[in-house]
Amino acid sequence: MNKEDFYIFTPGPVRMPKYVLEEGSKQIPYFRTTSFSKIMLDCESMLLDLLNAKKGTRVLFLAASGTGAMEAVVTNLLSGDDNSFIVNGGSFGQRFVDICKLHGLKYIDHKLDYGSSFKVTSLFDNKTKISSVIVNGNETSTGVLYDLNGIGQFCKSNGSLFIVDAISMFLTDPLDMDEMGIDAVILSSQKGLALPPGLSMIVLSEKAQKRVLANSKNAKSLYLKLDDYLKDMDRGQTPFTPPVGIINQLHVRLKNIINDGGINKQIENAKKISSYFRSQIQELPLRIFSESPPNAITALTPTDGRSAQKIVTELFDRYGIYVCPNGGELKDTVLRVAHMGDMDKEYVSVLVSALKDYYSR
Ligand SMILES: *Cc1c(COP(=O)(O)O)cnc(C)c1O
Repeated sequence: MNKEDFYIFTPGPVRMPKYVLEEGSKQIPYFRTTSFSKIMLDCESMLLDLLNAKKGTRVLFLAASGTGAMEAVVTNLLSGDDNSFIVNGGSFGQRFVDICKLHGLKYIDHKLDYGSSFKVTSLFDNKTKISSVIVNGNETSTGVLYDLNGIGQFCKSNGSLFIVDAISMFLTDPLDMDEMGIDAVILSSQKGLALPPGLSMIVLSEKAQKRVLANSKNAKSLYLKLDDYLKDMDRGQTPFTPPVGIINQLHVRLKNIINDGGINKQIENAKKISSYFRSQIQELPLRIFSESPPNAITALTPTDGRSAQKIVTELFDRYGIYVCPNGGELKDTVLRVAHMGDMDKEYVSVLVSALKDYYSR
């Protein structure tokens, strides 16, 4: 492998494949055209295919980072009549709490100890009315994968709307809208999709679309008013300028995934890469932080008293390797290594060798 300017193992941005980089070097075409509409509709149908979405499900494209899509989903799907159960296992769960709070929406803040998994029984045991469940499929800040099948079963039996932020699990960990009974999926370009940041996608079941239409008269945001996006998407367009270049990159990326064995091959590869990394660091003073780690990311706690923050800084300063620090309370105790994007054993072994060298000094 040629030496690269830097090696990147952060949960966004992630390492992008060559063909994505090449597409990104082209001039950006004008977009109110039938040929760009076709690209948008093509992207939609490929995404729906990869998500195993029911007929009638739609994809909306937003020029926003993932948080913009989180806020759009919450404010367009929920109203004053709702009471949402939010699985809050870290900073991304907390973000949903903050969004609901800011917009005056009712919620149950179900806080988990950092790193622990979610028990679906806490939904069934809850005595208040739960009209919707909101969860980050993978809580990226602690590397915890939640039981979406179990939560989906609760939502089905309880008639609750099921909202999943799948930003950091799509393409690395299993996600099936139909089987899991999911009504809204939130995606973003800079994680498993391995594209530049700036594009997010909202996938809505028919039930979720009805919510958008029913709530639209109370909209408090012009930019994030999703019924306009729904209407325009009928002809493969958006109300405002989309990130045209990233959508072109998405188009080549999705075609490549589908021609190269589909979603199962992607998940299989992420599983192989994460297991390889975890097996290679067993002898090092690093413990896996999470009770149920996804394929997407490994959160690690130093067991020899070193500061996690310091390890992150030194890996970059000495070896040109980006891994990810944590903020807040976990600043000194947790660091994260992502397995999303264009990863193979050779690339990961650069990090493994650096860690071994670092600890041998
Ligand atoms: C990265 C991420 C987001 C989006 O964060 P942005 O900085 O707004 O792109 C949202 N949810 C999860 C679980 C994430 O990993």
